[in-house]
Amino acid sequence: MTRIRSKFAALICALFVVAATLSARAGAGAAPARIPILVYHRFGPRVADSMTVRTAVFAAQLRFLKDHHITVVPLRVVTRYFLNEGPPPPPNSIAITADDGHRTVFTEMAPLVRQYRIPVTLFIYPSAISNASYAMTWSELSELKAGGLFDIQSHTYWHPNFHIEKRRRDPGGYRKFVNDQLIASKKRLEDRLGGTVDMLAWPFGIYDDELIELARRAGYVAAFSIERRPASTRDNVMALPRYLMTDADRGEAFARIVEAEPAVSRSRSQTNR
Ligand SMILES: [Zn+2]
Repeated sequence: MTRIRSKFAALICALFVVAATLSARAGAGAAPARIPILVYHRFGPRVADSMTVRTAVFAAQLRFLKDHHITVVPLRVVTRYFLNEGPPPPPNSIAITADDGHRTVFTEMAPLVRQYRIPVTLFIYPSAISNASYAMTWSELSELKAGGLFDIQSHTYWHPNFHIEKRRRDPGGYRKFVNDQLIASKKRLEDRLGGTVDMLAWPFGIYDDELIELARRAGYVAAFSIERRPASTRDNVMALPRYLMTDADRGEAFARIVEAEPAVSRSRSQTNR
């Protein structure tokens, strides 16, 4: 009798676990359905171009995230969730990325990243590193990676515009070109910095079915574009949207991006400069 009762209790318990899991999956407030992913490029004291976010604006954005209990999660956590390989990020999560390896990522962004201890993923095209005057060096990238807050992933080898390259080549030559760009970048980053490179940011946000297929074959498991909306589990994991951050994305504009449900009122002290 006791044994039957305990079996019955175990069954009820198992059913409860299944039901709880299903309700969590159904998104009963636990799992975030939409995760904003931000992409930055350059920082500085002035808005030198459309891709520059003033360092003071970035600092105010990080302060806002902290004040509003918005969690910055590693991009890897987001992709593992979308690939059904990991748990959902906590509610009110975002991810932060920066493309192109501009040296102000090292001089302006990194000190704030360390101050707030947030994870950041950099998408790098190796041809520029220790080469272009605006870019970081390999030793700077190594230093960022060694600090543990920066993950470094691929942005192809030399940041081509695949629309233009396709027009210049026959189909076979184009596929070889794309393949070389995808594989050389992954290999160079892994050789120079260690770790696994299997995430890709599409240069200029350009992708199509053929590019996605080639990227998968080259060993990439997730890829990112540029589109002003949060990423969701309904998106193609090889074309996840990211918000291209500009200096105008401050104050209320920033709040609208990062807050799933904007606060009704906000104190004046939290207004960004
Ligand atoms: Zn880029």
